[in-house]
Amino acid sequence: MVGGDASDEIEYLYASIPQIRNIFSVTGKIGEGTFSSVYLAIARLRSGEDCKFALKHLVPTSHPARIAAELQCLTVAGGEDNVMGVKYCFRKNDHVVIVMPYLEHDCFVDVLHSLSFQEVKEYMYNLFKALKRIHHFGIVHRDIKPSNFLYNRLLKKYALVDFGLAQGTPDTQIELLKVLHTKKQGSCSQSHLHTNSGNIPVPREVVLPSSTKQSVKRYWSHSQINPGKSGKEGLLGGSLQRSVFGERNFNVHGAVIHEVSAEKNIKQSKITEAASRKVAARKPVTTKNTSGVVSRKGATGSLTCDCYARDQVCAICLARARQVAPRAGTPGFRAPEVLTKCPNQTTAIDMWSAGIIFLSLLSGRYHFFNAGDDMNALAQIMTIRGSRETVQAAKQFGKAVLCSKELPAKDLRELCEGLRRVCTSVTSGTESDVQKQRAALQTRMIEKLDGWFVGETSVTPPANSSESAMSSAGSMDIGQSGWDRVPDEAYHLLDRLLDMSPTTRITAEEALSHPFFKDLW
Ligand code: ADP
Ligand code: MG
Ligand code: ZN
Repeated sequence: MVGGDASDEIEYLYASIPQIRNIFSVTGKIGEGTFSSVYLAIARLRSGEDCKFALKHLVPTSHPARIAAELQCLTVAGGEDNVMGVKYCFRKNDHVVIVMPYLEHDCFVDVLHSLSFQEVKEYMYNLFKALKRIHHFGIVHRDIKPSNFLYNRLLKKYALVDFGLAQGTPDTQIELLKVLHTKKQGSCSQSHLHTNSGNIPVPREVVLPSSTKQSVKRYWSHSQINPGKSGKEGLLGGSLQRSVFGERNFNVHGAVIHEVSAEKNIKQSKITEAASRKVAARKPVTTKNTSGVVSRKGATGSLTCDCYARDQVCAICLARARQVAPRAGTPGFRAPEVLTKCPNQTTAIDMWSAGIIFLSLLSGRYHFFNAGDDMNALAQIMTIRGSRETVQAAKQFGKAVLCSKELPAKDLRELCEGLRRVCTSVTSGTESDVQKQRAALQTRMIEKLDGWFVGETSVTPPANSSESAMSSAGSMDIGQSGWDRVPDEAYHLLDRLLDMSPTTRITAEEALSHPFFKDLW
C-alpha cells in the first residue's frame, strides 16, 4: 500500500518540520486526502529496534481548533478497542504532523469479494467495538467508511482512524469538541495554533499542549476582531479549508448556489421543512409556479409556497435561508437525517454508515450508493428502504419528503444475494478487469430498481490494485466461505442499522449484543 515515488512530497514534509528528519526515515506515502497526506516512516527506538509509524501531515489551512480536537479524540479515546492511538505530535508554524503507530492494512475493494462470511462478521464486530468506544466518549465520527477503518486481514487487526470531521455529543467528554460545538460556522482563518512544547516529541500523555484550550479561545476572540490576520486572506475564498466544524464542505462561500443546483436535479424526491411551508413575507415577492403562472403576494400577507407536491422548486423556496446543519461525510455513507439536514444529529449517523459498509460486505457491491448529491442519495436510499418509510422517518425530524411514486422497501436478503450472485458469474481476467465487470453488471441490475437514477455510474477500479498475479484473490467460493448459509440474524442486524429513524436505530453497544455475533462473545 505504500505509494511509489513521493520524494518531492517527502522533502516538503522534511522542510516543513525539519526535526522529522532527525528522528524518522520517511519511506513513502500511504494516504492522501483533501486535508492531509499520510506517510510511512521508520524510527530507531532506544532499544535498537526499528519501528514503523504513520505520519499524518495536515494541510496548513486546517483550522487550529479542528487540529486540536482531532488530536484530543486520538489521545483520549484512542489506543484501545480498535481506535487508533497517537504517539507524538510535531508542529512548526502552521504545519502539524500527527505520529501514529503504523497499521499495515488491506484495501477494502481488493478483499471485498474474497472475504469469508466469518471474516465479514468479525470485521463488523470489530467496527462496532470501535464505535462503542468513541460513542461512549461522546464522539460522533461523521466519516465512517472503509478507508477510515483500517483492516489487516492476516493479523485480524483493525483501527478506526481520521477524527478530522468528528463532532461532540452535547455531553461529550472531549473538551475540545465542546469548543467546536458551540461556535457558529463561518469562514476560518489560518493557523494560530499555540503550543508550549515547540517541536519536541512528547510522550502520549502530554501530547496535547496544556495551553491548547486557552489558545483556541484566544484564537476565536482574536479572529473575531481581525479575521484573516495571518496575511493569507487571499487563500480564504479559493482554498479548501477544513472548517472548525470539520465539514468537508467546499461551498462555504457558495452554499446557496450549491443548494439551488442540487434542487434542480430533483427528479422524484424533494425535501422541505414541514414546519415552514407557510412563510410570512415582508417584501412583495414575485413567484412563478410550475405551470408558468406568476403570482404576486402582498407585503404583509402570509405567503404559501407554490411548489408543494410539484416536481419543481418555487422561488419562495429558493429564497429561503439555507438551513445550517452538519453535512460532513462521504455522500454514499450519509444517513437520511444528514441528507435532509436534520440539525440534531447523534452518534446514530455513524451506525447508519456502518450499515452501509455491512451492505457492501453482504452484497459485494462497493460503493453501494453512488449518487453525486444529497437528493439523489436520498432517492437511492428510498429505492432500497421504501418511500413510505422514508417519508415517515423524515416527518419525525420535521422534514417533508415528497416522492412522486410509491417505492416498496426491498427485501434485504434478496437484494444482497442477487448482487452477490452477479459477482460469482465473473471470474476470468485480471483482478481489475474482474472488478470492473462485476461492478458494471451490478450497476445494471440495480438500475432496474425503480427510482434508481444513476447520474454518474461509477465503475471504479480500486486505486491501488495491481494488475498482476492476484487474479485469484477476488474469486469467490460460495460454499466454502459460508455465503451459502447466511443466517437471518445478519439481515436483521442490517435492517436495524439501516433504520431510517435515528431514534430507534441500533446503537453500537446493542449491535455487539446482537445474536448475529453470538459465536464471538
Ligand atoms: P484524511 O483525513 O486525509 O482522510 P486519514 O486519517 O483518513 O486522513 O488517513 C488517510 C489514509 O492514510 C488512510 O485511509 C490510511 O490508508 C492511511 N493511514 C492513516 N493512518 C494510518 C495508520 N495509523 N497506519 C497506517 N495507515 C494509516
Ligand atoms: Mg480519511
Ligand atoms: Zn416552494
